[in-house]
Amino acid sequence: MLTPKKSWLSVITITFLFLLPLFLFPQDYPYLIKRELLEMIQSEVSGERAWDMVSKISRFHRIRGGGEGSEYNQCAEYLAKELRQIGLKEVTIKKYRSDGFQKYFFWTSPVGWKVNGAELWMIKPSRKLIARFSDQAVSLMPYSQGGEVESEVIYVGRGRSDAEYKNKNVKGKLVFATGGGGSQVHRQAVLKRGAAGVIVGPSDREDRLQYPDLIEVNRLSPSGEEREKAGFGFALSRRQEKELVSLFRAGRKVAMRAEVEAELFDGNMPVLEAKIIGTEYPSQEIIIMGHLDHYKPGANDNASGSAGMIEMARNLRALVERDAISPLKRTIRFLWLPEIHGAAAYLTKHLDLKEKGICGMNLDMIGEDYTLCQSNFNLICSPYSVPGYINDVLTNLFGWLEGRAFFSPRGSKNRFNFRIRPFSGGSDHVMFNDSTFSIPTPMLGHGDVFHHTSLDTPDKCDPTEMKRIISLALAATIFIANADDEDALELAREVFTQANIRMTRRTQRSIRLLHQYASDTDKRNNLAELYSNIINYPIVQAQVETANLEEIKELGKEKATQSAIDSLIKDLNRQIADEKDIINSTYDLFLERYELNKEDFQLNDLYKKASSLKPKRLFKGPLPGNYLRENLDEKGSAWYTRNRAKIGRSYGSKIYEIVNLMDGNRSLLDIRHIVSCEYNETDVEFILHFAGDLKKLKLITFE
Ligand SMILES: [Zn+2]
Repeated sequence: MLTPKKSWLSVITITFLFLLPLFLFPQDYPYLIKRELLEMIQSEVSGERAWDMVSKISRFHRIRGGGEGSEYNQCAEYLAKELRQIGLKEVTIKKYRSDGFQKYFFWTSPVGWKVNGAELWMIKPSRKLIARFSDQAVSLMPYSQGGEVESEVIYVGRGRSDAEYKNKNVKGKLVFATGGGGSQVHRQAVLKRGAAGVIVGPSDREDRLQYPDLIEVNRLSPSGEEREKAGFGFALSRRQEKELVSLFRAGRKVAMRAEVEAELFDGNMPVLEAKIIGTEYPSQEIIIMGHLDHYKPGANDNASGSAGMIEMARNLRALVERDAISPLKRTIRFLWLPEIHGAAAYLTKHLDLKEKGICGMNLDMIGEDYTLCQSNFNLICSPYSVPGYINDVLTNLFGWLEGRAFFSPRGSKNRFNFRIRPFSGGSDHVMFNDSTFSIPTPMLGHGDVFHHTSLDTPDKCDPTEMKRIISLALAATIFIANADDEDALELAREVFTQANIRMTRRTQRSIRLLHQYASDTDKRNNLAELYSNIINYPIVQAQVETANLEEIKELGKEKATQSAIDSLIKDLNRQIADEKDIINSTYDLFLERYELNKEDFQLNDLYKKASSLKPKRLFKGPLPGNYLRENLDEKGSAWYTRNRAKIGRSYGSKIYEIVNLMDGNRSLLDIRHIVSCEYNETDVEFILHFAGDLKKLKLITFE
């Protein structure tokens, strides 16, 4: 046994020996940004202050194209004042015509709209208030024309097809429909048949059944030509819809009186722009955007992103003043946009951003309380067609966001819950990622059951999540804005590592596909074709990743940095042969296992044609989702509905990518491989057909 004295000594010795490695070998530190700076950022960002701004912004009914005197314009001015108070020098509001006629790229501006108030009263069988704009702004459908009418209410079922109006005279009357789709009901009842206005219940969305008083936003979208004929619309909750339906079922006569004080006119879309000019590389810009518009309250969508950018601007000023960071070397451009249409308008006047924009971030719905909103955080990556490193900078920091230090005093104690998803559209990042600009712009956002409803209120917005996502965007911004050669190298190694993983994962997906085809007697016929496609994916993926790595050179000037990146690219490309070997040997294994003959796939005419055609796009800006439907004849657009299986999943994202990749150098077959690599298998016939349609519409040429 040891004597007590000796035992103390040995405890000290052992403790020392255990601690020694900590001094000799620093702990693994995974982040691109130094710990001290991350801690400063964490202390600086206030989820509470951001939440407070959400509640301020959500007081405004922010409908795009409002024009002078509208609450949208007032809100933009309010934020401009706030930014000037924070100390930003370059704060401008730029206005773009919005009258329902003016087009920006292929996107027609919304009609200008102003509203003062609206009420809907039931007169028969009993007298009571149904809806009042000042109670619930979304109960009046945005872009409703003003008017006053007292009439019988005609029940038209769902009211979206001609059949439902048979033998019903709705002219000059109020029309009631169930099941949502306010804009379509308005089109049928008012624009086509001269009704005065529509009253519409909510859609049948399963996840909203538990909220009987929720009112969905139903936006009427009259074009410039339809302004004169437009009427108004009221949106009801499920509870209200049920009550009305039961009156009609009981055979009661229903009459209502509507008063709408609103106006459709030549409006404008203000874009609020604030810049912090870079000290060393002012012409390299990081563009941080969020849409300011939407109905009141629109707390998470998108007062949260708008407030997040105000907080970021404040934090950037404060961190410089505290000497926590040096003044930013590269320029930051903040944009508060009228969603998509406003972004299109702004970009038509800022084509120089193609050269200046090195990356972007779209903050759209950044504050969701996970539990209340049935949601989680989504990083929607920038697409394969737009090379860059911003996705990897953001994902590198996810581990940091796990910490309890992000818990905000009035916020939730939820731990960070995130998904990383491939590119998809639906918000302003589609404009910036379009190859007219090629600014890699991921979207930072959440899914949300209350999206576009009366219940998207500030209480659904979580100060803890606000603090997390603002900190994430801010840290990435500071890192890229101030990156030097050392940072560029560190980043290149990070992107290289993630690229390796992506290549391995791609191969894994390919192997799973091979197995599905080999083991399925129906799919077996196409196994040889599948193999002949997927054996290209290691090269395709390596090309995508090489382009990502190349982009980092814009952050490091020194020759040593550039050649270090080149050697990482070489290493990465060495992996192609390994991945091909893995695919080949697994393929052989499956053939043996299922007793199949190895067949060579003879490239048929479709493949030959696709590899010979090199399309080049002739238009700027992304195609609107309904472009083909509106510009092809009925037979032409029916092809797409009939051939869903050939397109595979992610139709919208694929269309976007295919257009983006049409640069005159890539063949249609190259493009087919890239979108299949990024999303899922895509039939070459679909690519050919789609390109043929674009050619017909004079949107592309073949080089
Ligand atoms: Zn949004």
